[in-house]
Amino acid sequence: MAKRIGLYPGTFDPLTLGHVDIVERAVKLVDELVIGVAVNLDKGPLFTLEERVALVAQEMKAIEKKSGVTIKVTPFDTLLMHFAESVKADIIIRGLRAVSDFEYEFQMVGMNQALNDEIETVFLMADARYQAIASRLVKEIARLGGEVSAFVPAAVAAAIKGKFAKS
Ligand code: ADP
Repeated sequence: MAKRIGLYPGTFDPLTLGHVDIVERAVKLVDELVIGVAVNLDKGPLFTLEERVALVAQEMKAIEKKSGVTIKVTPFDTLLMHFAESVKADIIIRGLRAVSDFEYEFQMVGMNQALNDEIETVFLMADARYQAIASRLVKEIARLGGEVSAFVPAAVAAAIKGKFAKS
């Protein structure tokens, strides 16, 4: 059987425990997982692309070891469907939070199906503890001096502290 490749795309600015939870679920569905880190300069990222890739890659080591699934962390700045085709993805994985993500994801899947109807998008829900976590809110809390260690891995919390200490 050919190995099943999944692509989990996002901005990961920064990686949160919500993302990590989705990855832990995604590895149950695939033989190889590519985490696509989008450049996404429109969003004015706090972390550079290189920093985001490094923080994600660091957290993936333990999941890779535990699951036995190969996890590759790769930056991309092209159309999602073109990137999915280039990594030979069978499925695209997205996390879904309550109702907030639905409208956007609904439109994206519709458009992506028109571009390539062979690659299915699969939605996963994080554990209830992590559902409310959003990178945008983590950044806002940190910017205002709040504690973010309940929302992100320890290394990410340290990196956020470093960013705000400098500015
Ligand atoms: P985007 O920049 O596309 O809004 P992110 O880069 O923050 O998204 O996240 C990538 C993916 O992870 C998206 O599918 C998003 O819905 C999902 N995600 C982010 N946080 C959570 C969470 N707390 N629970 C479930 N899914 C999440």
